[in-house]
Amino acid sequence: MTENSTAGSQSVTDQLTAGEDIAFMREALTMAQRAAAQGEVPVGAIIVKNGQVVGQGFNQPVGSHDPSAHAEICALRDAGQTLQNYRLPGCTLYVTIEPCTMCLGAIIHARVARLVFGAVEPRYGAVSSGQRLLENGVYNHELAVSSGILAEEAAGLMKQFFRQRRASPNDQGPAPGAGAELQ
Ligand SMILES: [Zn+2]
Repeated sequence: MTENSTAGSQSVTDQLTAGEDIAFMREALTMAQRAAAQGEVPVGAIIVKNGQVVGQGFNQPVGSHDPSAHAEICALRDAGQTLQNYRLPGCTLYVTIEPCTMCLGAIIHARVARLVFGAVEPRYGAVSSGQRLLENGVYNHELAVSSGILAEEAAGLMKQFFRQRRASPNDQGPAPGAGAELQ
């Protein structure tokens, strides 16, 4: 029912846009690095319409005192302002890590046409891991999904972040940005 494809098994349509997907996912990874630089879990998102970036965001719930400030939500808000519309038809959302239930819900509410994510999130992922929300038959909005784009880079950023955070609970260490405040 869903168009959920796994890494290495993209559909023909996906292959046509594969180069574009990689380029935009690189921008999402740049956003993820901005999150890491601020001591936030490194997840980044970009929203594209007609080949143009109309929204971008990075994970920042700690610094912004906002439990909903995940990368996808920040990017959806940004795109809504850019397009002056609470719905984002025809848009593709690129995010470095598989969305959680909150973000996938918001993506559906926004009527995003296509979701492209990098690495799976085995615990909180709501697309192909954990809860598979798109498969429950509740939503009548068709969301095309591609995954595995630059997954190693996306997962690598996460691993590096958590390794550094574990390694430096209270010494000066190599923790990025305001990481010391996290512990
Ligand atoms: Zn989320």
